[in-house]
Amino acid sequence: MARYPRLMPAQPQLFTAGVRRSTRLSPSFQRVTIGGPELAEFDWRGFDHWYRLFLPASGSPLRLPQVSGRSWWPSYLLIPESKRPHCSNYTVAGFRREAGELDIDVVLHWHHGELGGRVARWASQAQPGDPVGLLDQGLMFDPPEGSGRVLLATDETGLPGVLGILAGLPEDATGFAVLEVPDAGDVRPIVAPPGIDVSWLPRSGSQPHGSLVAAAMAAIAVEPNDYAYLVGESSLATGARRQLRTAGLPTSQITFSGFWKAAAD
Ligand SMILES: Cc1cc2nc3c(=O)[nH]c(=O)nc-3n(C[C@H](O)[C@H](O)[C@H](O)COP(=O)(O)OP(=O)(O)OC[C@H]3O[C@@H](n4cnc5c(N)ncnc54)[C@H](O)[C@@H]3O)c2cc1C
Repeated sequence: MARYPRLMPAQPQLFTAGVRRSTRLSPSFQRVTIGGPELAEFDWRGFDHWYRLFLPASGSPLRLPQVSGRSWWPSYLLIPESKRPHCSNYTVAGFRREAGELDIDVVLHWHHGELGGRVARWASQAQPGDPVGLLDQGLMFDPPEGSGRVLLATDETGLPGVLGILAGLPEDATGFAVLEVPDAGDVRPIVAPPGIDVSWLPRSGSQPHGSLVAAAMAAIAVEPNDYAYLVGESSLATGARRQLRTAGLPTSQITFSGFWKAAAD
């Protein structure tokens, strides 16, 4: 397997920006809009364009790693721990070049009644002007030449990317999109080609995470040139990949990625 996805820029650019506003989009999503003059130079390519998001270490100004070609991690680790920024992966949920603005749709998740994860806590409290850094990582969605239908499956964390893919597909694209979300209130209007059968699958309290995607995948009759894009919680993505492999889809026709790993309680 290639070390870097084919559509990752060879010279990823690092940007700084500030929070402009933060609004609750739905029960499980907080939209943080960041902006600044540097963002007008962001080479947004639509689809599931993602980036590394850097938030300042608490009580410290924002420090960012040096980027050399695709390398940034060694420099990141050289930043003393107390000043090292928090780093997580996020997707461009919206981009307005003329305003130099980018939207981040952050999943809010709770653990024993407390808002979990540094980014979810940051998103819910973000104030105008709070600084952030962003390192462009390009696209993962990359159907091989000659692919036919697209099969998209995700939980809430891949929703911004899959909605971007649906909006970017050609009008004559066909296939399925399976969107598992925590709450019926997270269903929102989308833009998608008419030939894509989109299923929103809100979980009810007792349904385990990923179970609705697994059931939907089991019902799909695969064609060998389908292209599948499977992202979300680690076992959701690997489970869906296993199902489609067993149904006869070659690995070369599948992109999958574990976006986060459920913690053992
Ligand atoms: C390419 C890519 C794009 C992504 N795009 C988005 C995006 O646009 N929006 C988005 O919200 N997420 C997105 N994610 C997922 C996000 O990076 C993870 O959810 C990440 O763990 C959040 O970072 P954190 O630092 O807040 O929490 P962490 O420190 O990584 O995790 C803290 C705890 O929270 C748990 N946790 C993390 N995420 C969730 C969750 N969603 N639900 C329940 N428990 C969770 C972990 O298991 C852990 O126990 C993306 C991931 C990738 C790889």
